[in-house]
Amino acid sequence: MSRIGKSVIHAGLETLYFTGGYRLARPFLAGVGTILTFHRVRPALPDGFQPNSSLEITPEFLDEVIGRLSGAGFDLVTLNEMHRRLVEQDFGRRFIALTFDDGYRDNRDFALPILQRHGAPATLYLPSSFAEGTGELWWIELERAIAASDSIEVMLDGEMRRFDTATDSAKDEAFTTIYWSLRSLPDEQDMRRICRELAVAAGVDAAGICREICMDWDEIAAFAADPLITIGAHTDTHIQVAKASADVARREMEAGAARIEERLGARPKHFAYPVGDPSSAGPRDFALAADLGFLTATTTRPGVLFPEHSGHLTALPRISVNGSFQRFRHLDVLLSGAPTALLNRFKRVDAA
Ligand SMILES: [Zn+2]
Repeated sequence: MSRIGKSVIHAGLETLYFTGGYRLARPFLAGVGTILTFHRVRPALPDGFQPNSSLEITPEFLDEVIGRLSGAGFDLVTLNEMHRRLVEQDFGRRFIALTFDDGYRDNRDFALPILQRHGAPATLYLPSSFAEGTGELWWIELERAIAASDSIEVMLDGEMRRFDTATDSAKDEAFTTIYWSLRSLPDEQDMRRICRELAVAAGVDAAGICREICMDWDEIAAFAADPLITIGAHTDTHIQVAKASADVARREMEAGAARIEERLGARPKHFAYPVGDPSSAGPRDFALAADLGFLTATTTRPGVLFPEHSGHLTALPRISVNGSFQRFRHLDVLLSGAPTALLNRFKRVDAA
């Protein structure tokens, strides 16, 4: 989600909560179901420079989210069941589908026991190179490069810029500026090269990050053996497909699914676009996912599901449950559909 989208949602959440506006809006905006996005799940670290904390929640919060959702009468469903309900327009009960991206080992250590306790199904969207141990987690390379440095130099927009990174607040500021500048580059390979160079210059073991924090194939196979778990595809190298040529996008989407089938014995029926915002996944890619035979594909465009999404099964929105919104009252408001309706200007389907 863009910075602007995030701050709109964040400000809107508090306003909607304290005015009670979300309760009034619920019957009109709440839709028929919601897909939730999670990344890392692990105990909170001591305060400090944690620029990727929006991609993690604590085990306690996950436990509370799942408990409160099932207590509130939502059906917790697999993506296959969500697909069936959308196709058959079976909307007697509101549903939630839980999805985890990327294959972090903490999903096994902290999330799986909670899913098991609640009997809650979930899908893990896996980039095959991450299980291979060769994935480039460039956002963590950038974080660690800045964490390890008192100052860094980086070429942005054709200009060499020097950032003070001596204190936590300076590090935060440098990360935000560099991260969003790199995300706006048209060629993803430039972004990756710059992160890698910064990491290497700071003495960070960039190549070791993937094996350190992501599950390998044996671990994925054990994780996937739990009947609650569905494995979905997430490309091979976690590329932003909209920034690649049609050939490369197709090859990446196909290769990720083929490798999962080879290693786990079943071809994934569901797909998630890496990064997943409009600059990373667009209409060409929604058509590609359908053409490759995926039953559903999810973006990170924020939104709840409406009956009309049965006509856009490879462009489904999700709501990210992340560190910045780590309070249940926030999730309550998000699920009302009100903040995302505001953000989407009350357009229910955003698939263009
Ligand atoms: Zn991802």
